[in-house]
Amino acid sequence: MESKTIFQKLVDRELPSSVVWEDDSVFAFHDISKQAPVHVLIVPKKVIPRIAQASEQDALLLGQLLLTAQKVARQLGLEETGYRIVINNGADGGETVPHLHLHLLGGRPLSWPPVKNSSITSGLETSQ
Ligand code: 5GP
Repeated sequence: MESKTIFQKLVDRELPSSVVWEDDSVFAFHDISKQAPVHVLIVPKKVIPRIAQASEQDALLLGQLLLTAQKVARQLGLEETGYRIVINNGADGGETVPHLHLHLLGGRPLSWPPVKNSSITSGLETSQ
């Protein structure tokens, strides 16, 4: 049997976390290394490694994740000021934990695009 992801251990309460939401399908907790005043991770209890591995059967669960982000944002006072929901997928996406999760970020203005233009085009230049 494959070893548990860190997020499975948090869901199973084998490791401590600061929980902000839990129901039968979804678990949400504050990120240990926050990138904004509010930085919450929202994970499905079912282990899907990343969005690329989700299937049609996960459609309801994927919707529940987004609606949980909406609820937690309201709960933490972000509704008026706004927030961002992010999913990192794979190496270039910045994924470090192979257990699908949404980042909910808010409490300060977030820049867009998330990287400088020169970083964006340097990837394109090498492929032309
Ligand atoms: P990723 O880079 O995979 O999109 O995001 C993983 C996130 O998990 C990171 O923001 C990281 O700070 C967070 N993280 C990793 N380990 C732990 C942990 O043990 N507890 C909590 N609360 N967050 C964690």
